[in-house]
Amino acid sequence: MTPMMEQYLQIKEKHKDAILFYRLGDFYEMFFEDAKVASRELELTLTGRSCGEAERAPMCGVPFHAADVYIGRLVAKGYKVVVCEQMEDPATTKGLVKRDIVRSITPGTVIDNTQLEDSVNNYLCSLCIGEGVALCFFDVSTGEMSATFFEGEDRDERIINELAKFEPREMMVNVNLSDIPSVEFYVKNRLNAYVKDGQSDRYEFGPCLNRVTRQFPSQAYEAKERSRDMISAIGALLDYVTETQKSEDANVSGLKFYESGEYLELDVSTRRNLELTETMRSKDKKGSLLWVLDRTGTAAGARMLRRWVEQPLVNANKIGRRQRAVSELTTSFMAREELSECLRHILDLDRLMTKLVYGTANARDLRAIAATAAYLPDIKELTADFASEELSDIHLHLDTLSDIRDLIERSIEDEPPISLREGGFIRRGFNPEADELYLIVHDGKSYVNKLAEEEKERTGIKNLKVAYNRVFGYYIEVTKSNLNEVPERYIRKQTLVNAERFITEELKEKEGMILGASDRLCALEYDLFTQIRQRIASEVKRVQQTASLLARLDCYVSLSEVAVRNGYVCPEIEYGNTISIKEGRHPVVEQFATDGYFVPNDTLLDTNHNRLALITGPNMAGKSTYMRQVALITLMAQIGSFVPAREARIGIVDKIFTRVGASDDLASGTSTFMLEMNEVAYILKNATNRSLIIYDEIGRGTSTFDGMSIARAVAEYTAGKKLGAKTMFATHYHELTVLEKEMQGIVNYNIAAKKKGDDITFLRKIVRGATDDSYGIEVAKLAGVPNEVIRRAKEVLKDLTAENARPVEKKGRELGTTISFDDYKADEVREKLLNLDVNLLTPVEALNFLCELRKLAK
Ligand code: ADP
Ligand code: MG
Repeated sequence: MTPMMEQYLQIKEKHKDAILFYRLGDFYEMFFEDAKVASRELELTLTGRSCGEAERAPMCGVPFHAADVYIGRLVAKGYKVVVCEQMEDPATTKGLVKRDIVRSITPGTVIDNTQLEDSVNNYLCSLCIGEGVALCFFDVSTGEMSATFFEGEDRDERIINELAKFEPREMMVNVNLSDIPSVEFYVKNRLNAYVKDGQSDRYEFGPCLNRVTRQFPSQAYEAKERSRDMISAIGALLDYVTETQKSEDANVSGLKFYESGEYLELDVSTRRNLELTETMRSKDKKGSLLWVLDRTGTAAGARMLRRWVEQPLVNANKIGRRQRAVSELTTSFMAREELSECLRHILDLDRLMTKLVYGTANARDLRAIAATAAYLPDIKELTADFASEELSDIHLHLDTLSDIRDLIERSIEDEPPISLREGGFIRRGFNPEADELYLIVHDGKSYVNKLAEEEKERTGIKNLKVAYNRVFGYYIEVTKSNLNEVPERYIRKQTLVNAERFITEELKEKEGMILGASDRLCALEYDLFTQIRQRIASEVKRVQQTASLLARLDCYVSLSEVAVRNGYVCPEIEYGNTISIKEGRHPVVEQFATDGYFVPNDTLLDTNHNRLALITGPNMAGKSTYMRQVALITLMAQIGSFVPAREARIGIVDKIFTRVGASDDLASGTSTFMLEMNEVAYILKNATNRSLIIYDEIGRGTSTFDGMSIARAVAEYTAGKKLGAKTMFATHYHELTVLEKEMQGIVNYNIAAKKKGDDITFLRKIVRGATDDSYGIEVAKLAGVPNEVIRRAKEVLKDLTAENARPVEKKGRELGTTISFDDYKADEVREKLLNLDVNLLTPVEALNFLCELRKLAK
């Protein structure tokens, strides 16, 4: 190996978990495995570098000035990056340049705005598995922290459900993730999170308790009461954050303990199926519920609304508070418009303050805080007349931060440079010493004139001059005629024909100042800036509180704007167990209804006579849309939003489950049917009679009779006495419609379609009763399947219905379409036997062969 490569490998050895950016002149280079990964992820050309061994080392690189962009992209993809700099000037160094790691960036600890998405929280998660499970989620960039603890059954599913709620970018774990394979699969393949597991040292109880007590003096006790695991989870996380931010304490705006029952429970596949924040297929926000609801003007508001959508409420009082705020804004058109306009100027105070607290904020960041504060008095005034609790609360507690704004506006230039090292950002008039230095640096002549004027005044010598030469620097020149007025403190330096030149102690001092002025000014500006930054950082709690009030206000303004724009109504929330919707619409599909009209439908579900709505109807009729619309309206109501309906009464539900058949999850390695049954098992174990369940064509992934039997058993169990959850059940098994007669609480519905000859028109209207026909062939025709195939399908269908009584197998033969399964196997057995040379078999082989045959026979 070349000496450089040896140095590289030594450094790399200590950072195996990261991609190493190794500075080489004007580039950062990556080698070996790092180079392969980076070239793939960043679409860089992979080259090679001779490293002393026969094979060249794979290499790729990026120019140093563009490094941040590339680092940002790698971090966004879930990698950790460490940056290794040259610590000496290569031009003046003989031999190998000293290099060292100067920065490390991980997905969950980034605080630089340019590497973060504005409208999404960036969570770091700490998981501690002990007596139970403690989870702590922390957005380092905003300071928001939540933690929860649970124990009991379905541990791994519950962990995944919590992770699905926050979608952390990075995760630390006390145990090895490979010991909990389903969680590991989810974290690595779905979240793509950067993981550090097996961290038991960091989770040691004693040091963790100290950390938690230090950071949260008033909450440590409560955390400990919940569980020792909770202390470890929070403590380990704080330890890690302070280490990465090189700070004694973490900037935490608030620690919130929550229990799973505090929010509407949504498991991971329900979140996906309902497309709350992204669509299932393309993972875009467009097409999701959040996309419809989000008209926020601020980054913090967008993040908060996303959390509201991810964590709907279950408490009628809390929901009511939000509803009244939205209500009030929908009726105050002017105030809403003006607030919305003001909010568009509000910058990301949370993230700005985090940078301030960790000492990475620059002068522009301070100006951004001041610019935001400039809108606060207006917002305070605009909210003054509101009566709802939430809005008047916001008005009352909104701090206009005028002192902070004043300090920034007095001290920092309007458009300061990014760098803090070259001065030019402290405003004139803020600090006398800085003013004087500024004058010297930027207008040396008038400064010298000013000195001359001062001397003239003091000595009375009218034509005294101050000038500079290389031999003895600044001097005072007095003409011969005025020599008698020269004071004692003047020291003679030179005699000319008409004049004499002097220096003074004072002048020497000023000279020192003039010559070093530029450096001094830079240093002084930097000092002043750090003082101002610290001064404002000490007010972090006030700013954070205001930031969170603004975010809330933004959410309410957004929800009311959406309500007005889309014609939503305020749902009636109650503790009862009925969901009654008149003319409900699907909030997302109606946005895309190009032919302009989305057909509204009614819904009635309760825990008595309308427990299970069994929905049949042809493919494409609108069954899935209808059921999701009910789930989404319920969920929106529990967020506090208005809903797309003419009228809605929503009895609060505790959990929503959806099971959608035939949605393949090949990547997980589980077969579709197995996955489907896993989900059904989870629903049946976890649903209560306050839950809302949606089964969209379950039992599809197996043979007809199996599938139908399972579907029927599940329907009976769900609607039965033991569970009795509110359920919508779409199925293509028409046979199940007999259940209506056989079991109380099951009601048949179908989505009407009109058949005219071979053609079909979808009416999209849900009506009572069962369908008699699945219109499969008509739908196939509509989809453009060739006429020949359509004709043949009809023939087959006719035969099948005519010979309904015959056993399946025989029917298959007559139609000439299927081969008997049994015959096929028998042939195979016969062939195997005939090919066997008995004389060559060992006893073990004989036994194995027998086994194989038996398997075939089975
Ligand atoms: P199914 O589940 O019965 O096969 P879908 O719910 O997938 O049918 O609906 C098929 C399409 O019909 C949807 O993509 C949507 O565009 C349209 N659709 C569904 N319901 C309505 C409605 N109420 N009004 C207008 N269009 C609808
Ligand atoms: Mg469907």
